[in-house]
Amino acid sequence: MIRLNDITLTFPDGDTRVTAVDNVSLTAHPGTVTGITGPSGSGKSSLLAVAATLIRPDSGQVLIDDIDATRLNPREATELRRDHIGIVFQQSNLIPSLTAREQLTVMNELGARHSRRKRAEAATRADMLLDAVGLTDHGDKRPHQLSGGQRQRVNIARALTNDPSVLVIDEPTSALDQERGASIIELILRLTDELNTSTLLVTHDLINLPRMHGVVHLVDGRLVDTFATT
Ligand code: ADP
Ligand code: MG
Repeated sequence: MIRLNDITLTFPDGDTRVTAVDNVSLTAHPGTVTGITGPSGSGKSSLLAVAATLIRPDSGQVLIDDIDATRLNPREATELRRDHIGIVFQQSNLIPSLTAREQLTVMNELGARHSRRKRAEAATRADMLLDAVGLTDHGDKRPHQLSGGQRQRVNIARALTNDPSVLVIDEPTSALDQERGASIIELILRLTDELNTSTLLVTHDLINLPRMHGVVHLVDGRLVDTFATT
């Protein structure tokens, strides 16, 4: 579960500061997708960065599975992020020289001592996730051999390798046509259900919102509307 309590985030802007997120509270439960919408510059990415513990807010609490991330030191925050949070950015940031399957196991290889058993577990999980995102037959391909939609699927699979309880996804369909975009949203809804993640999904595709469990709308960093669709 993720709970944001009264989050405010400002950035320096010349002599003053710009308020990117203004007193936002929101809760997402396991197995649900919360859609986040709003015009460009309304604070969607800033809010996700706070939720993902990548940026510390000026004030407010970020509770990830009841751990207050805003009270952790940087090392603890990194551990929390690694073990509890999956992050998918707008642009796929895959490593060009690695195959789809390797993108999912490389973090494990870079970790501390890796036993043979851990390595086998990582490989099994990678294959399960490639299956889950519909890329069973594409595990040996590198990013340039995959379509934009397939690359985004690898990104999503990679975000799920550590079995996170919270999944944050920023405009995953912005570089895709409508049909491919819809199938990515479909995939996110299904994986959220199957893997029981608390998912926050920024999207400008209004057509997909009715499929989500809740939707919040941001304007100038403030929540203007919150409603559950189910
Ligand atoms: P959205 O994702 O909804 O387009 P953002 O969260 O990217 O909105 O931006 C919200 C506001 O915060 C904007 O006014 C933007 O200019 C400002 N902002 C975002 N990131 C930074 C930053 N790193 N430094 C300064 N201002 C920023
Ligand atoms: Mg954004």
